[in-house]
Amino acid sequence: MSKREYRPEIECPLMKELIYIHQCSMIVDVCEEIFIESTIPFSCILKDSNWKEKCRGCKYHELEYV
Ligand code: SF4
Repeated sequence: MSKREYRPEIECPLMKELIYIHQCSMIVDVCEEIFIESTIPFSCILKDSNWKEKCRGCKYHELEYV
């Protein structure tokens, strides 16, 4: 049985690198206050006081709701 490889595929302007879609989904859920900030695994983005506005303006923000 061959292993299937999943690679990061979303260029995240907050992280400034490629991230996996489930990572994007987690950040969006915190942005929309479905989960609290302490659950976010990427605390570096919280240093930017405008991170939520940037995330909401990102073309991937609505992905999980379509
Ligand atoms: S929607 Fe937010 S978390 Fe997802 S790629 Fe864009 S900025 Fe990053």
